[in-house]
Amino acid sequence: MADTDVPTAAPFVPATPDLDELRAAARGCRGCHLYRDTTQTVFGEGPPDARAVMVGEQPGDIEDRRGEPFVGPAGKVLDRAIVEAGLDRSTTYVTNAVKHFKHKPAAPGKRRIHQTPDRTEIMACRPWLVAEFALLHPQAVVVLGATAAKALLGPEFRVTKSRGVLLPWPDSAYHAEDFAGEVHDGAFVLATIHPSAVLRADDRDEAYAGLVADLIVAAKALAGTA
Ligand code: SF4
Repeated sequence: MADTDVPTAAPFVPATPDLDELRAAARGCRGCHLYRDTTQTVFGEGPPDARAVMVGEQPGDIEDRRGEPFVGPAGKVLDRAIVEAGLDRSTTYVTNAVKHFKHKPAAPGKRRIHQTPDRTEIMACRPWLVAEFALLHPQAVVVLGATAAKALLGPEFRVTKSRGVLLPWPDSAYHAEDFAGEVHDGAFVLATIHPSAVLRADDRDEAYAGLVADLIVAAKALAGTA
């Protein structure tokens, strides 16, 4: 990528019907600067016939080291909330809007500090997200937190205002034409908080209950489209 080019993953995304091939190609992505100083690309995980897709912000410190999404403390919160809400974890695909860990360098022996991806980085990585959706054709899309909402629902979307609300998918997506293709009847998108917000909340019980309540809305809607 030349310094004057707009950062984008697009040249690295292969036209393939195979999710594993897509994942393998993402390992070599140099679409923006975020691959530097990381361990690896952290691509989405889950079955290719997943009914629900959950989209978070970016991998964290632990995910970066292990190469899998949502395997750190926030992932544990999400797993518990998914089960409690009545969603089927085994048919859920989890991924992130940005596939590399943006962070500040850590002092020796300390954990690296997360940094929120900016709009340029979110847009650079979006072709991977679009490609994942093109293969998965989910019935339920759950957007976790503000960064994922910006990537999928647009810069004006506010999770705090519109969380827990069912919206038609892909009609409500930012640049919905990117997600056109095979779409299930009644497919929807719903935004909620990122599970890491539960861990940061003053009242964790209340924040967790809110996350579960939003996911219950999704679980009930998904049951209705079964
Ligand atoms: S963050 Fe996304 S666009 Fe940037 S290098 Fe990583 S995979 Fe590529």
